[in-house]
Amino acid sequence: MSRTTHILTVDVEDWFHVLEADGAPSRDEWASLESRVERNTDALLELFDRKGAKATFFVVGWVAARHGALVRRIAAAGHELASHSFWHEVMRRHDRASLRADLAASRKVLEDAMGQAVRGFRAPGASITRETAWAFDVIAEAGFTYDASLCPGVSSHGGFPSPFPGPHLVRCDAGLLAEIPSSTVSVAGRRVPYAGGGYLRLLPYAAIRSCIDREHRAGRPTNVYVHPREIDPAQPRMALSWKRRWKYYLGLATTRRKLERLLDAHRWIGCGAWLDAHGAALADRVLDARPWARGAQPAPDPRFVPPAPVLAAR
Ligand SMILES: [Zn+2]
Repeated sequence: MSRTTHILTVDVEDWFHVLEADGAPSRDEWASLESRVERNTDALLELFDRKGAKATFFVVGWVAARHGALVRRIAAAGHELASHSFWHEVMRRHDRASLRADLAASRKVLEDAMGQAVRGFRAPGASITRETAWAFDVIAEAGFTYDASLCPGVSSHGGFPSPFPGPHLVRCDAGLLAEIPSSTVSVAGRRVPYAGGGYLRLLPYAAIRSCIDREHRAGRPTNVYVHPREIDPAQPRMALSWKRRWKYYLGLATTRRKLERLLDAHRWIGCGAWLDAHGAALADRVLDARPWARGAQPAPDPRFVPPAPVLAAR
């Protein structure tokens, strides 16, 4: 079996950055909690280096602001840095102004640390839906040229009825974005993720490998996503509901080994590098998000709208 090329991504956030969960620490508490993101991300950097893999690291701005040296180590190792928002909040909890402020701060903190422009954005929880399609315009206006937020199938916090299971373009009023969606396979008529988060932790290696091969034969790269906490079985446990606990903490002990086998089996590059090589071929795959975006206005619960981030003066 030849080593085919696929896309490797990391969402750089800490163990307490869980979405929409009762029992999770509030934003005000984050700074007082033990941080494990630096050591866990360093472990991923070491693993990727040993396997010759390159990745895109979507960094939460709040993490980047506190761990500038980590951001610089990721860039120095030859990986791409991209935004995973500043406050790590789902899109439905934003309005246009709060998302604009969040994205601007997330870009600035990364660009100040590494000295070059950020191209990509990934919404927490793949949370761009039909109802939040207005976010595409805010993302494009913020200067991003690609998005990696869509899940064209089953998703806890998102899910978008896209006809494109592989990379494509998104047309919005503010222009064109390249899109690298979550990888899914067709199961009983629905698209189901297989290559990241809980699916990566839960599914046996052979099943993931077979999905990668199946999608490759259909002409689509796999987009693996992993979180630093997912290779850290010793992370503190939050008082989540039993269902969330099960989903959030399952498979922690086996993920690193599975990831190692995937890295051995294929060649891995980041989103930007993949688009540089294949972006021109996406011209005839355009998702027109304008009808969705015009029909959907932000309607967040005011209690959850994140504040404008305040960055320390340099
Ligand atoms: Zn995230």
